[in-house]
Amino acid sequence: MKEKLARLGIATVEDLISFYPRRYQDWTKITKMEELRPDDEAVIYGRVADMRMLTPRRGMSILNVLLVDGTGAVTLVYFNQPWKGETFRKDTHVLAYGRIEYNYGKLQISNAEIEIVTPEELSSFQKLVPVYPLTEGIRIGKMRDMISIALDQVEDMDENLPPDTLKREHLMGRLEAARAMHNPKNWEEQKEARRRTAFEELFFMQAGILLLRKKRESHVMSIKCAPSGKLVRSVLDNFPFHLTAGQQQAFSDIEDDMEGLIPMQRLIQGDVGSGKTAVAALALAKIVENGYQGALMAPTEVLAGQHYRTFQEFYKGLPIHVAYLSGQTKTKERNEILKGLKNGSIDVLIGTHALIEEDVVFAHLGLVITDEQHRFGVKQRKALETKGGYPHILVMTATPIPRTMALSIYGDLDLSSIRGMPPGRHPVKTYAIGSALLQRVFNFMGREMTAGHQVYVVCPLVEKSEKQDLASAVAVYEQLKEKVFPMFQVGLVHGRMKNAEKDRVMTDFHDGKINLLVATSVIEVGVNVPNATIMFVYGADRFGLSQLHQLRGRVGRGSAQSYCILYSDNQNEITRLRMKLMCEIQDGFLLSEKDLLLRGSGEFFGYHQHGMPDLKAADIVKDLPLLERARKEAKRAVDGGADFRDELSHRFGGAFFKKLYEEDGK
Ligand code: ADP
Ligand code: MG
Repeated sequence: MKEKLARLGIATVEDLISFYPRRYQDWTKITKMEELRPDDEAVIYGRVADMRMLTPRRGMSILNVLLVDGTGAVTLVYFNQPWKGETFRKDTHVLAYGRIEYNYGKLQISNAEIEIVTPEELSSFQKLVPVYPLTEGIRIGKMRDMISIALDQVEDMDENLPPDTLKREHLMGRLEAARAMHNPKNWEEQKEARRRTAFEELFFMQAGILLLRKKRESHVMSIKCAPSGKLVRSVLDNFPFHLTAGQQQAFSDIEDDMEGLIPMQRLIQGDVGSGKTAVAALALAKIVENGYQGALMAPTEVLAGQHYRTFQEFYKGLPIHVAYLSGQTKTKERNEILKGLKNGSIDVLIGTHALIEEDVVFAHLGLVITDEQHRFGVKQRKALETKGGYPHILVMTATPIPRTMALSIYGDLDLSSIRGMPPGRHPVKTYAIGSALLQRVFNFMGREMTAGHQVYVVCPLVEKSEKQDLASAVAVYEQLKEKVFPMFQVGLVHGRMKNAEKDRVMTDFHDGKINLLVATSVIEVGVNVPNATIMFVYGADRFGLSQLHQLRGRVGRGSAQSYCILYSDNQNEITRLRMKLMCEIQDGFLLSEKDLLLRGSGEFFGYHQHGMPDLKAADIVKDLPLLERARKEAKRAVDGGADFRDELSHRFGGAFFKKLYEEDGK
């Protein structure tokens, strides 16, 4: 039993108590038999009018129990459970729960859950009955018994929420809530119990996040920058554009942070194409101007490489030494770079995960930026941050996330949003097509290329198999290159290619030497080629909405009208709905909310991948109002000096809040 329970994550009595029901059977409403309809899950109450055990052949038994209630009749059917015969006696009264089936003109329930209940006892059985997620070898009755024994054993549970909070929020006591979660008298009580339990979870999660922040802020070791001067202005002058109001606001938030006493921890959220890179370039110039080094980490080689090239333009003629490091950097070059970082001759390092390797050591790191943060885990972000004392931290993401998520995943960060796009952009026209229209779309691509524009063709992701991804991309590449567009330059880029080769293809595409680029999802984030006007996605149903939005964001970056064409032969309803949403909605925020609803919170941006603690009662999506209340209360408590040390370490163990328990100076 112990092992079976362990499979459900249950090791202690406390775990059992917090193993909440997935749902409840509502035994409070007894349905008259004449009102039953097939497929209803219903509770009935009736007298045993007849019972029969059939044995159609050896080793097989069918028990039929006929219940009547004066309005109709229902047969309870049990296959191969001969012992069940002992349970029923003629004329006793039975309360039964199950799904109503209609069989040869009769109503029946297979394997009903039942209680033998006299009419006098009836009211005490009318309650909500908990249903638990189970594992093989543990039956529902056993689980209910174990939990109720556990609840009986517990005489008291120390209240863990502050008394003021309980009062202000009118929350149930802890033990009362635990009991009511498992055996609520009615829906009202269940609702209150869940509210208390969810509140408690959210409260401690937020308290942990706020404490992390407080701890950081107590280290007043900020690299305090001077007001922006000549170097920053020169970068601004180098830009071939004026900053949008949104970019200006974001950079001004950053300046305030970097000139302040507390290290910056800021998240810049801006839809695809809103111009985050320029803002990053300004922030990095500012740290260099103050005599420190900066680092910019991007999730893919393609993107990191592009940033490197972009920065060379942005910093042209200025005394900022930029270096590029990736997993594929040659040893000799790498050693040079490591040396330059250590002696401080390199000002800005751009690269991939390679930046967080242990031997990458900076002389004086003052600013760390992660681009497309949602592609990294919290761990990777933190690994880079620890390379400086307490460097300023800037996190950028194009994937707008609903506020609930932001408060949880990025609860320790301040938020700037870049609203609005650079001028002259048109919405990307989006179409969903099937194979019938493929030829016409190819013709259209040809015309766009003839007019001097460029095209992306992204190939489906075949889950779990990088090899197959590759095969499909290569096959598409060969077909397009040889059969469909022999008169154009067709290129191919994928994750398995050598760095140099990838760079060459991307540079050629950027410079217009390649008209059509076939790619795997390596180009999903960040890539910027404003002359490209068509994004064609094969197997569009295999991508999430946010991913599709990212891909679509690769076009519409210049002034020409751009198109996103989503190809899928999958006709199922969800796919059609998702494609329709893509065609109708351009706003990344709105899309991500829809995505969240369609996929559910568990899947969303790998909530768990962020190392976030499990929530048992709260729902990260639906409980936004509760989350905000819990955060407010947690803030009051933390501001008042509470540190919840035992509660937090007990509750969340290591993972997410690890830093909290580390001693100062580590
Ligand atoms: P993202 O926010 O998706 O990272 P980028 O930083 O790649 O966007 O910028 C998208 C494109 O917009 C780039 O070609 C960039 O040069 C251009 N851009 C950025 N800021 C402006 C601006 N203020 N005005 C005009 N174009 C801009
Ligand atoms: Mg970007």
